[in-house]
Amino acid sequence: MKYYSLNHNAPSVDFKEATMRGQAPDKGLYFPERIPVPDPNFFHNIENMADEEIAFHVIQPYVGNTIPIDELKRIINETLSFPIPLVKLTDQVFALELFHGPTLAFKDVGARFMSRCLGYFSRNKTQKQIVLVATSGDTGGAVANGFYEVEGVDVVILYPSGKVSSVQEQQLTTLGKNIHALEVNGNFDDCQQLVKQAFGDADLNEKLFLTSANSINIARWLPQQFYYFLAWKQWPDKKNPPVVSVPSGNFGNLCAAMLAQVSGLPVKHFIAACNANDTVTEFLQTKNYQPKKAVATLSNAMDVGDPSNFIRILEIVNHDLQKLKKNLSVYNISDEETMQTVKEIYTRHHYLLDPHGAVGYLALEKYLAGHPVAKGFFAETAHPVKFFDMAGSVAGDNFPIPVQVKNIMNKKKQSLEMDIDYPFFKEFLLQFSR
Ligand SMILES: *Cc1c(COP(=O)(O)O)cnc(C)c1O
Repeated sequence: MKYYSLNHNAPSVDFKEATMRGQAPDKGLYFPERIPVPDPNFFHNIENMADEEIAFHVIQPYVGNTIPIDELKRIINETLSFPIPLVKLTDQVFALELFHGPTLAFKDVGARFMSRCLGYFSRNKTQKQIVLVATSGDTGGAVANGFYEVEGVDVVILYPSGKVSSVQEQQLTTLGKNIHALEVNGNFDDCQQLVKQAFGDADLNEKLFLTSANSINIARWLPQQFYYFLAWKQWPDKKNPPVVSVPSGNFGNLCAAMLAQVSGLPVKHFIAACNANDTVTEFLQTKNYQPKKAVATLSNAMDVGDPSNFIRILEIVNHDLQKLKKNLSVYNISDEETMQTVKEIYTRHHYLLDPHGAVGYLALEKYLAGHPVAKGFFAETAHPVKFFDMAGSVAGDNFPIPVQVKNIMNKKKQSLEMDIDYPFFKEFLLQFSR
């Protein structure tokens, strides 16, 4: 399988090179040359297949011969080391729980898969691979955990001091070994700026092999399809395919779901469940894509004003907007509605949503109100405990704390505090070249 750049000004590459590069040299996102369609038997037999077997069938054509079959199977087993259950709330509405991974957010699957692919690709390199990430909270934790103890790879995470939650900070700073946390006296944009400067520093890039672990990397993007195949395996009404609601920020997760549909996965309709950030909503109305500054909301992992993966969704439908609108509806949910939904669903079903899942739930409910025969599920993308104050105010003090949180809360924080100081940062990175 080859991947071409969506800017059409760089050579096509295989899975290995696209994973190692992240972005094409012309700054475009990589996209697969063709979308594989499994044998129809695959969908008939899906209930009888193990999760790992399903995932292997889905991803193998994308990986091609860049990773041997046994190695790919090991990577998949390590990626899917936790369940992805479809939980019934009502006859019409189900929750696809993507938060059972080690950092309690859906990014675990992509981060674990990518880290292991990268570890495999750099196995014979004498030079270490350095993964650089700036994080406002969730991504850093998933990347740190995903790359922990992966040989040949060191991870450097920059996070804004005092601006991530205590659970998130513990996830970033307590691992040690090949995971290095830099606590920056600044905000997220300052962290992002330092990382960008490092990627643009020719001298540094001669001495080190730097790469990014952000969500445009195909090895983070493509495995997100697993969720939707595993949901279909559990879907109780195979004659009536689900409406699928995905809480969306950079639109990577939704785009993976739409790719799965092109591969033959039965889906009735998609919903992009967004918070107040409405760049895509406006685009579908006006046909004019206008990036905006992100607005802060309760579902902060979706506070994105220029969603990087949306261009891939346009590619899937050959830039045909009418076709896209038939298959996808967008809803913008306010913070008031989000909070109201968390309370209501807890009262009605004794089910505690996190703010991202609440946006997904309400968008689905709004759609289903106009389509009474349809049924669907929403992706519950984070564990409610990650939003401790909200969870506490709705469910009281006695909701169960998952073991993933208990295990880290007493661990010792290891971080290096630094000012917004590029020479200092560069010197820190250069230690890996020695
Ligand atoms: C990253 C994230 C999202 C948004 O996913 P995208 O692929 O960027 O659209 C939604 N919910 C949670 C909890 C996240 O961490």
